[in-house]
Amino acid sequence: MSLRRRSTVRSMMIVPSRYRGRGWRRGGDGDGRRRPTGVLDLPPRLGSEDMASPGRNRSGTTCCLQIPAPVAGEDEQHPLEPRTHTKHSRTLMNASNTAQFWVLRDGDVTIKVLFCGICHTDLHVIKNEWGNAMYPVVPGHEVVGVVTDVGPGVTKFEAGDTVGVGYFVDSCRSCESCSTGHENYCPDVVLASNGVDGDGATTQGGFSDVVVVDQDYVVRVPRSLPPDGAAPLLCAGVTVYSPMVQYGLNAPGKRLGVVGLGGLGHIAVKFGKAFGMTVTVISSSPGKREEAIERLGADEFLVSSDPEQMKAEAGTMDGIIDTVSAWHPLAALLELLKPMGQMVLVGVPSKPLELPAFAVCPSGKRVAGNGVGSVGDCQAMLDFAGEHGITADVEVVGMDYVNKAIERLERNDVRYRFVVDVAGSLGADA
Ligand SMILES: [Zn+2]
Ligand SMILES: [Zn+2]
Repeated sequence: MSLRRRSTVRSMMIVPSRYRGRGWRRGGDGDGRRRPTGVLDLPPRLGSEDMASPGRNRSGTTCCLQIPAPVAGEDEQHPLEPRTHTKHSRTLMNASNTAQFWVLRDGDVTIKVLFCGICHTDLHVIKNEWGNAMYPVVPGHEVVGVVTDVGPGVTKFEAGDTVGVGYFVDSCRSCESCSTGHENYCPDVVLASNGVDGDGATTQGGFSDVVVVDQDYVVRVPRSLPPDGAAPLLCAGVTVYSPMVQYGLNAPGKRLGVVGLGGLGHIAVKFGKAFGMTVTVISSSPGKREEAIERLGADEFLVSSDPEQMKAEAGTMDGIIDTVSAWHPLAALLELLKPMGQMVLVGVPSKPLELPAFAVCPSGKRVAGNGVGSVGDCQAMLDFAGEHGITADVEVVGMDYVNKAIERLERNDVRYRFVVDVAGSLGADA
């Protein structure tokens, strides 16, 4: 192992760890000895006094934004805090609360994070709305970065490649889902953030300067796409693209409804138009009409709370992609479908939705769910986006703005996706 690699190893401590025997080895950087790390001297832009203590150096460290565990008895606010990683950093703790160091393995791709999108799932986890936050959490699963190093077994990527990492970073590779190219549905899928690998360690996501991921779970980002606008494609993009292809909602001339004009919905509109479909945006906000039609190129706009408008379009749509992540009634939306039409739910409201049987049975309508997409889907989506110049509409923010961005995301006050400029926040030397 070269000196350079050892240095790299020491900077890998917040990366998603790996799955069952294929993952990181603990306890040292290759020779079994643990080594303390230095601490990153964060640039003033990050603006945290916590980071400003003297005697820190930039070598062999990483930094990230994390949510620390809430203190018992205190109001459960979950702001993200900047953290560097030292031997005693909580971010480094595994399930047994032991600090750990990671060693690169064959097949690993080391990625300097350039941009990372803020997804609604991050918000759910940050607020612990699903009750599954494993603190400390480092969110982020819409990563675009540059390969800086590859393990000896890596054949797909080389240093300098622009790549992406999405919602998950490993799976069992042998179950029925994995064997049929649907590894996103593997029961043992390892999420990029707030996931658990086979060793019980918690994975840490893309709000960090470096991630290391197995090459089989890394995708190539076309050169034609700007990396900031491409970042949300890694989750939001594939989440809408994958079911459109799977259910034949990608055929010219077909009519597609897109419910909700947010991070997912605006990308669904773009894909629908690129597929040659007639696209109707269905929103509870009448004010989004101009945006949907003028800016995003949708053909029609329906206000979901207007029964007359909804009734006029009943039975006209081949498919509906429902992106809304708050509770909402389904029956009126299902009315819009043709017989045997397909609705796909891609938003995940915390409260259960109601599906009246009368809304689907008499005309054979179908409701499906979709969770992101496979690695193959993701690559196909990026290639298609590259050919058609499709990116997300993004508001790029620095790491120091991330808590404000999350507040605004909760109010849907973003058009349409926040993307954290990770590398830019940390400075050129980070
Ligand atoms: Zn996501
Ligand atoms: Zn599997």
